[in-house]
Amino acid sequence: MRETRSTCPYCGVGCGVIIESQGAQITGVRGDPEHPANFGRLCTKGSTLHLTASAAITQQTRLLQPLRRAARGQAAQPVGWDAALDEAAERFAAVIAQHGPDAVGFYLSGQLLTEDYYVFNKIAKGLIGTNNVDTNSRLCMSSAVAGYKATLGADAPPACYDDLKHASTIFIAGSNTAWAHPILFRRLEDARAANPAMKLIVADPRRTETAEVADLHLPLLPGTDVALFHGLLHLLMWEGLTDTAYIATHTTGFEALRDRVREFTPKHVAQVCGLDESAIVQAARWFGQNTPTLSLYCQGLNQSSSGTDKNAALINLHLATGQIGKPGAGPFSLTGQPNAMGGREVGGLANLLSAHRDLANPQHRAEVAALWGVPDVPAAPGKSAVEMFQAAADGEIKALWISCTNPAQSMPDQTTVRRALERCEFVVLQEAFATTATAAYADLLLPATTWGEKDGTVTNSERRISRVRPAVAAPGEARHDWAAAVDFARRLEAKLPRRAANGGSLFPYAGPESVWNEHRESTRGRDLDITGLSYARLDQGPQLWPCPQGQAEGRARLYEDGVFATPDGRARFAAMAYRPVAEPRDARYPVSLTTGRLRDHWHGMSRTGTLGRLFGHVAEPGVEIHPRELVRRGWEEGALVHVTSRRGSVMLPVRASDSVAPAQAFVAMHWGEEFVSGLSPSGVRLAGINTLMPSAYCPQSKQPELKHAAVKLLKA
Ligand code: SF4
Repeated sequence: MRETRSTCPYCGVGCGVIIESQGAQITGVRGDPEHPANFGRLCTKGSTLHLTASAAITQQTRLLQPLRRAARGQAAQPVGWDAALDEAAERFAAVIAQHGPDAVGFYLSGQLLTEDYYVFNKIAKGLIGTNNVDTNSRLCMSSAVAGYKATLGADAPPACYDDLKHASTIFIAGSNTAWAHPILFRRLEDARAANPAMKLIVADPRRTETAEVADLHLPLLPGTDVALFHGLLHLLMWEGLTDTAYIATHTTGFEALRDRVREFTPKHVAQVCGLDESAIVQAARWFGQNTPTLSLYCQGLNQSSSGTDKNAALINLHLATGQIGKPGAGPFSLTGQPNAMGGREVGGLANLLSAHRDLANPQHRAEVAALWGVPDVPAAPGKSAVEMFQAAADGEIKALWISCTNPAQSMPDQTTVRRALERCEFVVLQEAFATTATAAYADLLLPATTWGEKDGTVTNSERRISRVRPAVAAPGEARHDWAAAVDFARRLEAKLPRRAANGGSLFPYAGPESVWNEHRESTRGRDLDITGLSYARLDQGPQLWPCPQGQAEGRARLYEDGVFATPDGRARFAAMAYRPVAEPRDARYPVSLTTGRLRDHWHGMSRTGTLGRLFGHVAEPGVEIHPRELVRRGWEEGALVHVTSRRGSVMLPVRASDSVAPAQAFVAMHWGEEFVSGLSPSGVRLAGINTLMPSAYCPQSKQPELKHAAVKLLKA
């Protein structure tokens, strides 16, 4: 038996695993006791990883050879890798020649490794000359990115997991940490057990498992987070709990914010948020008095049409109280996906460049062009996720390369997404799994390696970079995403006007380590400088960034000196107005639908859905409503109900749950078209609950509002 150290591929906690294998078969998995994210623990998803990689499941679920569809609607037929990549390069080159570089786009995934991400970003921005590269991280963390940059000056979570044990108050907002980040929640439970005086406050519209164990649950109305945070700041000022010296020395913009929050009295906030005044007062006192205070937050803040504002308003509280840059304190975004952080680090979004450089900054563009040896990087921002599919639906983007993600289930407003995939002249899908909803729209399906087979790095929520290592060889003809992308890029290079200044290939990589080394060099002198981290160094153990050359250890905590990543070194308060949800409930659509994760499933269930035991917790999808609502409507538990928004309708069994407030409904986001399907008003087939959500997005981060839609519920 062989043992291989690697990393769990599911969530941003980034737990270390030890994979047991025999020959070509993964036979077991256990937590890595030496990994500083989990110290040997794994949750139900992580501890069953080996079962999802069994020979039987691989044969049933994996895409094992390249497939080509002669025409849409026809069955895809096997094709060789060379022929597939030749065709992909030819079709992309033809579209670029006829319509220009912005007629193609790349839609990637926070589950790709950093090395995969780096290559795709360079293909788009360096080789082709388009910034049309975006990812499902846009649906996950882009509001956190924009929130950090707007206030602290850089996309860098300032705290680390160790801060849980130093905190006296933990404020969780918009995160069911107990289910979505289970091992981190175990660490929080340990910290509470060691410090019974610790206070846990949870702000969430639902009484989740996390809220259930809180000292104080604030069941605010969906989307009212900014009003709550402004109200907490109002109280912190009123009660003299702000740190005036810290504000004066380390920040700017407090006066405008002070004026902004003046009207957010406890009475006003209680009305807007649907909360008790006394609970708001209690939360403010614990936040400001029972310090140090650590805030954890996730999609409840991010997936919102005011996502950046929500992030920034929470960060305001930490700046105003000086609760940042010291043990147990700080705003700490929890990353949804395993490597959304790595994608951000290489600049794998339509508005970013390598190593946290900004596309809008001419000097940053010149630096990246010089690093890559190309004449320039285009200045015009690319299309973000929603914009990319809208552009494809409008005929503006004509060729799409989709890697490791399933937009035909995960994106909002499926009418537009499916029209986009149909209208595109050429769609490449690079996937490990054969049966995702997006596969039906692909002209070329390229088999990709996945967990247990891949080789590279990921970065977790606390900026810790871990190695991902292969325990077994790729099954069938599956190839690593970066390697297939490089072979495509080399073919495309031959067909496009030469971009490489040295006359050679822009993609001279012999393996993932050479991609890593180039990425590493791009970070020199930047806030996330990792020039001290080689594969050999990471093989000794995961490391936090920054870790510049010559530094023994990565830095656990940022801004300890009170100097921020802004031009003047001061953090900036953000004095935003409160804006309600994009689609408030009304007489026609009187119910607030919210969505979220279950404990034992991951995303669209490509992997977790292959295991019967992971359905033991929740067996099937359903729409949860308050028990009083069930009685009021005269419905039986399990009755089929149409859940209808302005974008379409799906049918689900109804369940009573007192975790959901009256006039609200909750549906887990995992199930796809086999279980949650329906039709849009124009007759487009819908798959998954995200199909009902609006494509309205945050104007700063462009992250769509996947967490709230106004719906009506009617018995089927
Ligand atoms: Fe994997 Fe996240 Fe569970 Fe850790 S907490 S084992 S990273 S799913």
